[in-house]
Amino acid sequence: MDCKEIRKLLISDYADNEIGLKTKQIIQGHLSNCPACRELEQKVASLSNKLKEAKEILPAEEVWQKIRAEITQPQEAFNLLDWLKDKLSLFIPPKRLAYAYAASAIMILFVFLFITQTRGNREKTVENYIIEQVEFMDSLDAAGITNGLYIEPDIFS
Ligand SMILES: [Zn+2]
Repeated sequence: MDCKEIRKLLISDYADNEIGLKTKQIIQGHLSNCPACRELEQKVASLSNKLKEAKEILPAEEVWQKIRAEITQPQEAFNLLDWLKDKLSLFIPPKRLAYAYAASAIMILFVFLFITQTRGNREKTVENYIIEQVEFMDSLDAAGITNGLYIEPDIFS
């Protein structure tokens, strides 16, 4: 084997100690007669030892704890109201959101008034409807949908 072949083995199989006994003896025979290849062998051995030491070094416990915390952290529960709020916010600026709800409630109220006009118990029905609407808007507010921006219109108080 010439120097080229020896060097090729030195940086691969020989360094990893994955070499047959016969080949190992040939290499060692060459190394005892060739200072240049012996120098390379020593460099490779030194580097190989450094790599082995590096493998032994584990991340600090603190790092493991952070990784563990990141992995085991429960995913935030899906909240339909928050999701809906986010989607609505894409189309309606937050400040307008409360007014949008109020406006739709008032529109529904007028439609309801129109439908129930022919009924005899109109006053009671309207009163119940208003109470329902106020409760509905309060529930939206409580759920955080209106971000506390909802202010009861005067007609409800
Ligand atoms: Zn050589």
